[in-house]
Parts: sequence; C-alpha cells; structure tokens
Amino acid sequence: MNQDTICALATGNAVAALGIIRISGRDAIAIANKVFSGKNLEEAASHTVHYGFLLEEQKHFTEGQKPTDKGLQAIDEVLISIFRAPKTFTAEDVVEISFHGSPFIAKRILEVLVENGARLAKPGEFTMRAFLNGRIDLAQAESVADLIASENEASRKMALNQLKGGISHEISDLRNDLLNFTSLIELELDFAEEDVEFADRTALLSLLNRIKGRLHELLESFRYGNAVKNGISVAIIGKPNAGKSTLLNALLKEERAIVSDIAGTTRDTIEEILHLNGTAFRFIDTAGIRETTDTIEEIGVKKAREKIETADILLYLFDESDYTAAEVVDFIRGIQRKDLQIILLQNKTDLADNSSFSAEITKALVPDFAKTLIKISAKNQTNIDELKSELSTFVDNLKTETSTVITNQRHYEALQKSLQSIENVEAAVQSSITTELLAYELRNALEALGEISGEFTNDEVLGNIFSKFCIGK
Ligand code: GDP
Repeated sequence: MNQDTICALATGNAVAALGIIRISGRDAIAIANKVFSGKNLEEAASHTVHYGFLLEEQKHFTEGQKPTDKGLQAIDEVLISIFRAPKTFTAEDVVEISFHGSPFIAKRILEVLVENGARLAKPGEFTMRAFLNGRIDLAQAESVADLIASENEASRKMALNQLKGGISHEISDLRNDLLNFTSLIELELDFAEEDVEFADRTALLSLLNRIKGRLHELLESFRYGNAVKNGISVAIIGKPNAGKSTLLNALLKEERAIVSDIAGTTRDTIEEILHLNGTAFRFIDTAGIRETTDTIEEIGVKKAREKIETADILLYLFDESDYTAAEVVDFIRGIQRKDLQIILLQNKTDLADNSSFSAEITKALVPDFAKTLIKISAKNQTNIDELKSELSTFVDNLKTETSTVITNQRHYEALQKSLQSIENVEAAVQSSITTELLAYELRNALEALGEISGEFTNDEVLGNIFSKFCIGK
C-alpha cells in the first residue's frame, strides 16, 4: 500500500458550475477533516456526503487585527464525499470535495490540502494506484483513459467493455489453459530420469491451435477497433477541378466541419471529419485540396501518391469532360496497395453521362481493383447518400465475430508477441525438443500473454502508460 496521500483536481481547470478535487491515501479523511467546518469526517460512514465549509488558515489581516488573532477562514462552501477503502476507485480511502467551479478556488483548496500533508498527484496516479492495489488490471486501467477520450458511441462502448474486463477475461482464460499444461511439463522435469510424459502432447497441440485461432481473431479485430477509436482515413483524389472541394462540402453539409492540427507531423495536417453511424471518417490533407499548387500536375500526382499511402479508403473522383476511360483505368491499376478500399466516383453526371464511358471503366476495374463505381453530382448533391452508405458498409465489413475488440496498440503488439511465442511452443512440441526447452518456450508464452493484463510488467512500461494520463485521473 502506498503511504503518500495524493490530491488533484479531477475536473477540468476551467470556470464551471462545480469542480471536484479528489484525495486518495491513508490520511485522506484525516486531512480533509482538518480543513472542514462540518461534522467530524473521521467518524463518517463510507459512501456518505457532508455539507460544510472548506477552511484555510487566515493569512491576511484586516486593519486592527493582530497576528495573534490568527484563525480559520472559509475558502468555499463545499460537499465532501467519503469513500472508505477498499471499495473505492483506488482501493484506498478516498475523499471528493465538490466546490464552486472556479480555478482560483481549486488552486486554494489544493494549497491547503498540501499544507496539511497531502501531495499533488502525478499524471494517472489515481488509476495507477487502482492497478497497483489490484482493483483493476492494466488493460482496464488503459480503458479508463480510452473512456475519457472517447468521442463517439462505438468507442465509448468498446472502452466500457474493456473496463469491465473484456480482453482481460479472454486472455486469462487462455493463460489458465496453458498454465495447466506448463505445470504438467514442469512436473515431467522433476521426474526427468523416469522418462514419463504427464502432458499429453496431442492435447497440448490442439490447445495451442485453439489459442492461435483466438489470437488471430483478436489481432484481426484491431482493424475494426482501431478504425472506431481513431477514425477511418479517407483520401479524395482527382485532377484539379474534378470537384473534390465540392464533394467534401456536400459530404459535410450537415456536419460541423472540425479542423484539427495533429501534433507530431512535420507540417500541420488539416483534416475534416464526417461522423457516420458512430464512426469518424477523417478526410486527410484537405488543405491540399484547396492549395493552388495542386494545379501543377507533377506536384498533384506526387501528393496523390502520398495520400494513397496513408488512407484506408480512396475516393477517386473523375468526370467525363476531363478524363478518358483509359486514364482512369491506368491510374487505379497502378495502385500497389491491396488493402486500400477504392471507390470510383464519376462526378458531374448532371452535365454528361455517357453509358459507354462508365461501362468501360466498370468492366476493367470493378470488382477486382475498385469496390464500386458511383455516379454522382457533387454540385447537385446527387447520390451522396449512396456514397455515405458505401462508407458505412466499409466499417460493417471490418466487424469481426469476436465480441472483444482490440483497440489498443500495446495490446496489439503484445498479442503479436504472444502469437509468435505460441508458434514457438508449437514448433518445439512438433520437433520433439527437450522438455527443458519446451518448458522455457511455454514460460515465454505465458509471460507474453500476461503482459496485456499487467501480470508481467516493468516500471518502464507502467511509467509509459500512466504518464499519458492527465493529472487527476
Ligand atoms: P477541385 O479542384 O477538385 O476541388 O474542384 P472544385 O470542387 O473546386 O470544382 C471545380 C468546378 O467544378 C467548380 O466550378 C464546381 O462548381 C464544379 N463542379 C463540381 N462538381 C460538379 C458537378 O457535379 N456538376 C457540375 N456541373 N459542376 C461541378
């Protein structure tokens, strides 16, 4: 159990109706009691709320007052909630002070708490305590961050599922099965001279197979999980004047266009986001669309290639007046990426719609190279709904059978590592390797699986995870 008592602002540092400061640790209740005018909190039952004033030592004196008159004065009128260990967020004694939401008051209350023996919490320290005190596992701790960051319904659901222990249960079931075999194999080591086999190798192989299948499924779900959590990136490509801006505006018509600067890129990337059925579609580098340099063909083509590299979906926009069918076909056939979803958009069909033009393109490209060809008029907003439903279908198709969806890059990497180690065990069994080496591979696999829930971890990994949290979480 951690000895320090920590405190932090749990709500945003902005003017609001209310703010909450959280205290956690052995002295949480005693410290709160020292600065509270209401009833004796040390005698208060768990999960109760108390009204009173938050007090500080009087430091400023009005005229005529002497320092000997030094007393206590109120900072704010507050409600204090008492949560006694172990049924609390951190599994320690926790106090929540609900005050009038002024950043200035928050600062004063925190100062008073520190003066009375608490210390300011580090980023993620509350959640880290919950993990260290065994109340939640690492995957659950990470889901707290995801839950707070969730921007749409689908990612909220996934984070909540994980907070309830989704992936942890899955993994721990698999680990337990494997652990049984490992114990038997290690037992064999104790009876090495007698040349006995306690662990049925055929049964072990079939278990390994089952685990591999499950790991594959979980890894596969990351595509969907990642799409839901981080959005799906869509590139709109087409010659200058093909109607890219017009199309973007048509798509975002009822949507408040969100422009975001993404940190960490060499130049600021401007994205616009369309939400469809709870999934965010990020239109990448829409600044480029509006740049005049696009009119220089060379730069245009180079940019198009770059965009295609990072996109999940390509909307290829062309129109009859400015393209030949062969030109469209060549461009699409020239795209190397097999996992890119391509949707052909024949634009300006209000001006011209020669059926042999589209037929030639469809015949050459759909379905082998492009998913579909949709005839639109960006200007008149014709068939924009068809396009939207095609985008939604893309997400539906990513959904896997599995109820647990991987959304976290660290889990994804740990699963890959686990898969590799399971394959090593499999190879070890098949090559009738020594029992020692088999036991070694099995332990590696158990460790890899344990990394996800935090059964095996180190300070560096923990520091890395929790430092990304904000203070107060
Ligand atoms: P961008 O350079 O690809 O972004 O193209 P714009 O969106 O700026 O469009 C170029 C021109 O084509 C503009 O004058 C648009 O009004 C026009 N345009 C775009 N889509 C359509 C369409 O579906 N029908 C017609 N008639 N004009 C269109």
